[in-house]
Amino acid sequence: MLTTWIDDLSQKVPLSRQPQDLQAYGRDWTRVYVPRPSAVVFPRHPEEVCEVLRFCSERGIAVVPSGGRTGLSAGAVAAEGELVLSLERLRHLGEVDPLGLTLTVGAGITNQEVHQHSEKIGLTWPIDLASKGSCQVGGNLATNAGGIRVIRYGHARQWVTGLQVALIDGTLLKLGTAVQKDNVGPDLRQLMIGSEGILGVITQATLRLTIMPRECQVMFLAVDNIDRGLELLSHARLQGRLQLQAFEFVAQNCLEAVMKVQDRACPFAQIPPAAVLIEVEGRLDNELEQWMEQVMSQGLVRDGVLARSSTERASLWAYRDNITESLGSLGLMHKNDIAVEVGRLGEFVHTLLSEVAPHYPGQMYLFGHLGDGNLHINVMKPSAMDPETFWEGCQRADQLLYELLRNLNGSVSAEHGIGLLKKAALSFSRGPHEVDTVRRVKKALDPQGLLNPGKVFDL
Ligand SMILES: Cc1cc2nc3c(=O)[nH]c(=O)nc-3n(C[C@H](O)[C@H](O)[C@H](O)COP(=O)(O)OP(=O)(O)OC[C@H]3O[C@@H](n4cnc5c(N)ncnc54)[C@H](O)[C@@H]3O)c2cc1C
Repeated sequence: MLTTWIDDLSQKVPLSRQPQDLQAYGRDWTRVYVPRPSAVVFPRHPEEVCEVLRFCSERGIAVVPSGGRTGLSAGAVAAEGELVLSLERLRHLGEVDPLGLTLTVGAGITNQEVHQHSEKIGLTWPIDLASKGSCQVGGNLATNAGGIRVIRYGHARQWVTGLQVALIDGTLLKLGTAVQKDNVGPDLRQLMIGSEGILGVITQATLRLTIMPRECQVMFLAVDNIDRGLELLSHARLQGRLQLQAFEFVAQNCLEAVMKVQDRACPFAQIPPAAVLIEVEGRLDNELEQWMEQVMSQGLVRDGVLARSSTERASLWAYRDNITESLGSLGLMHKNDIAVEVGRLGEFVHTLLSEVAPHYPGQMYLFGHLGDGNLHINVMKPSAMDPETFWEGCQRADQLLYELLRNLNGSVSAEHGIGLLKKAALSFSRGPHEVDTVRRVKKALDPQGLLNPGKVFDL
């Protein structure tokens, strides 16, 4: 039976059942679930996406939309025999509109390709992630990606004017255009953004661009702890009057991990307990030097480096950008991606370290987007512990973490989404009426529950 529908589908669109493709396309970066897709399809244009979805709808076949597979919540995982629908061949790359500052692209264009294309005329799509070389525009929008510049520009949903979305019954919706001002009742486009592939498949997007800052400067500053980092954030804005492009936190053990894995020297005279990477708009050499002297003399900063060239800027960013990959190569990581309001981040971290961290079965690594109140909490499996015991221990400790977040009105998923991995956490950040309302929307659009089944919530 199985081979029959796969044979039929392979007559319509490029399809693979090669074991290496099933392995590669059935998983994302989480590496927690065993990939078991039945096949992978590679439609070449939006109409073929609709054809695949109509086919799945008629035959009752579960389908998982798949972008660059850099997701960290197992949203693109196909572990139950689903069909993987890869968007990577939707590679339309339009011309930048220099007046309206928009760009229309296929869902399979990578984040980096958008950057390279728009930078040619001094513009940028300000969604900037360490995974930019692989993650795709469709994936960025399906996850409402954040990244290192949220402090300045916000999330992906703020940088889209139009979206083309295929529904499970094969309908192709055109939601918005390149028109900036379009206030015509409820906005389905925003409903689709961040919906993690459970409501529709994004096939094309018209992105809003902005002017690239003419110059940016990067500093890496050693601090004693997160409290000093937060004081520094306030000082940079209110006393320094700095326009921040990024304000990132790196704990000591994360810095050490990057130094070890990438064989990089310590950027400071001594390895500090924590560091903050700051990117600032403008060419402000003298002003920044004076500001650094000021914060050092006030004891907010222990030591600091100011990049003097684009090569030095890239090399300072490497200490931040390579944390996820470096930790991943040192061991198995349990990950959480949380946020609280910035003003309560200090309180959160103190309680986390004193009351929650001791319950995790491994060492905790903290880094993230300090300026947004968003921390990535990673726990490494001790080498002698078997994975089963480790995951169980982490899940127990997660309950304490989520309780803490609920008490602080925080979020259990700041950027990465819920996917499969964080389903048990959803109720700590969303009330039952809200979840039930979204469930009703899901049932209206996908009554058979075929699109990315089991992700975000169960029907
Ligand atoms: C090193 C590293 C750093 C990262 N840093 C950040 C960061 O700073 N900020 C951040 O937000 N994330 C970050 N991420 C997570 C990840 O890169 C983002 O979530 C990204 O937006 C996922 O895009 P993708 O194309 O890889 O999507 P995938 O992983 O393929 O899919 C993610 C979800 O979107 C769905 N999906 C994918 N394409 C479509 C489509 N066209 N239509 C409908 N649904 C679709 C999938 O079904 C899945 O549910 C990082 C990941 C890594 C590995």
